[in-house]
Amino acid sequence: MTPYETTNHFLQEAFDILGLDENYKRLLRTPSRELRVEVVLPRDDGTVESIIGYRVQHDNARGPYKGGLRYHPKVDEDEVRSLASLMTWKTAVVGVPYGGAKGGIAIQPRDYSQAELERLTRAFVRQIHDFIGPDQDIPAPDVNTNATVMGWFFDEYTRLHGFKPGVVTGKPVELHGSLGRGSATGRGCMFALREVLAAAGDSMEGKRVVVQGFGNVGSWGAHLMAEQGAKIIATSDINGGIFNADGLDIPALRDHVERTGSVVDFPGSTPISNDDLLVADCDVLMPAALGHVLTADNAGDVKAKYVLEGANGPCTAEGDAILERNGVVCIPDIYANAGGVTVSYFEWVQNLQNFKWTEEKVNAELDAIMTRAHETLRGVMEEFGVSLRKAAFIQAVRAVKSATDLRGLQ
Ligand code: GLU
Repeated sequence: MTPYETTNHFLQEAFDILGLDENYKRLLRTPSRELRVEVVLPRDDGTVESIIGYRVQHDNARGPYKGGLRYHPKVDEDEVRSLASLMTWKTAVVGVPYGGAKGGIAIQPRDYSQAELERLTRAFVRQIHDFIGPDQDIPAPDVNTNATVMGWFFDEYTRLHGFKPGVVTGKPVELHGSLGRGSATGRGCMFALREVLAAAGDSMEGKRVVVQGFGNVGSWGAHLMAEQGAKIIATSDINGGIFNADGLDIPALRDHVERTGSVVDFPGSTPISNDDLLVADCDVLMPAALGHVLTADNAGDVKAKYVLEGANGPCTAEGDAILERNGVVCIPDIYANAGGVTVSYFEWVQNLQNFKWTEEKVNAELDAIMTRAHETLRGVMEEFGVSLRKAAFIQAVRAVKSATDLRGLQ
C-alpha cells in the first residue's frame, strides 16, 4: 500500500464503523485541490534546476487548510496527499479550527547551500501565493524545514501581499513566531503519553523509551519525557543509532548533537542499528522520523507496550494490525503529534491579534487541549469498543462530516 492508500485504509475503518455511504466516503477521502508546480532554482555554480513542488489542500470544512511543508527526496503526489489527509483528521481530533493540507518539495536539502534553499523557498512561494493566506491555507514546518525557512516564506508572501504574519506558522520567535512552537510537537507527544499511561493507572516514571529520530520532534520528546522520569535508552538519526541501558543523558546528548551534528559516538553509548532499535526491549517506542517504519516485517517483533507516533504515518496498515493483535497500544499520529499544529494555531491567533502570549500560557493551553482530546477519545473508545487509533479516526470523521453537513453541500 502507498502512503495515501494506508491513510485511506485507516479512514475506511472509521467509515465502516460509522456506516457512511459511498458518496460521503469519496467526498471525505478526496483532496479539494492539488497544486503541482515547477520551481526553478538557479544554483550557486551557475547551473539551473527545475524542481517539482506540491501543495495538496485536502479539506476545509472546519476552517482554512493547514499543514506543514517538507523538503525530502521521497516527496511525491501520493505521500503529500496522504499527509494532507492526515492533517484534516489531526486538526479535528484536537478541535483546532482548521482543515488539512500538506506541501512538499522533492529535494535532498543536504545537497543545497543555505542561499539555494532560500531561493528555492521564495520561488515556491511565488508559485503558490494566490492559493494560500491566513484565511485560506497556512503552511508550517515539517521534515527538513524549520523556523528559518518559515521566515523566508513569511517575507516572500509579505512582499507580494503586504504584512501578513499569519500566512505561515513556526516562524522565528523574533519574526512573529510563537514562544513554545519549537518544542510543541515533542511536548504534545509527552502529554499524550502521560494521559494514556494515567488512564492505565500508570506514569512515565522509570519507563524505558526508545526514540527513533532525534530531530525536532524526537529530541524535544526525549528531553521532556526524561524530565517526567522516563529513561531514554536508545535514539538515532540518519547517521546511526545509540544505546545505553541505563538511560542517555539527554541534555548532554543535545549538546553533543549541537557540536558534532549527529547522535553517533555519544560518550557512554554503544551503536545500535535502525532495525534493532525498533524492536529493542523497552516500554515505549516513539517513531519520530519518517513514515512506514513499522510494517508486516517487524511489527511482530516490537517489544514495546506503547507506540507513540511522533512521526506521521509510521505504521503501515499491516504493521498496525499486528501491533493491535499483540496488544501494543498505538498512540496515533493524528492525536500524538497534534501538539505542533495546536501551537501553530496559537501562533496564528497571536498574529491575527498582534498580541504575544507567554511561554507558560502556550504550554498550559497545549496541555489543556491534549488532555481534553484524550478524554474525548476515551469516550469514543468506550462507545465503540475500539482502539485509540480507530477512536481518533471516528472522532475526526464525525467532526468533519458534521461541519460539512452544517455548512451545506449547495
Ligand atoms: N508539520 C506538522 C504536522 O505534521 C505541523 C503542521 C502545522 O503546524 O501546521 O502536524
